[in-house]
Amino acid sequence: MKIKVLCTGYPSCEQLERIVRKVAGDISRDIEVEKVDNLQKIMSYGVMMVPALVIDEKVVSAGGFLTIEDVKEIIEKNMGGKMAWIEGYPREKVEWFPTIDEDKCVGCGMCMNCGKKVYDWVDGKPKVARPYNCVVGCTTCANLCLGNAITFQDINSVRELYKKEGIWAKVKRALKEKGVIK
Ligand code: SF4
Ligand code: SF4
Repeated sequence: MKIKVLCTGYPSCEQLERIVRKVAGDISRDIEVEKVDNLQKIMSYGVMMVPALVIDEKVVSAGGFLTIEDVKEIIEKNMGGKMAWIEGYPREKVEWFPTIDEDKCVGCGMCMNCGKKVYDWVDGKPKVARPYNCVVGCTTCANLCLGNAITFQDINSVRELYKKEGIWAKVKRALKEKGVIK
């Protein structure tokens, strides 16, 4: 994930940059944060107010004051939401995302139904744009792909990781806390 903080030097801009760097660092080392202060570049995103946040080239916030919690929520939402399936474990440490065999893809568009915005439609074909938005263990797009073009990693390696990191226990504890199970 790449986050751009569009800012023009106002104190509120500097503050947002600090918050974003802190929150992003806490969530995952793999989130790249860049400050954009070139006015032409800022305008190219079509924002009328700064500070603004862009995640993977999509404007997710413009103007207004964002707290640490707001920024955390925005980042998590764009990572596919707080995934109950991994409960707090860094998503980008779990190798689970689709790969498209371009020779097999017939452009049926079925994968674009993914509610986690994993894919972008580019030049008549899907591209895996946000792989870590994919819900760990989900294979719906592969199951319904007309060309049988989508594959995933070996689920057993994910299961090994869950065992090693105690993720099953963490998920169960969280579900109990939320009252989903007793
Ligand atoms: S497996 Fe599920 S979450 Fe992942 S890209 Fe496919 S439909 Fe989306
Ligand atoms: S569902 Fe499969 S065949 Fe259809 S567009 Fe997506 S990758 Fe291509």
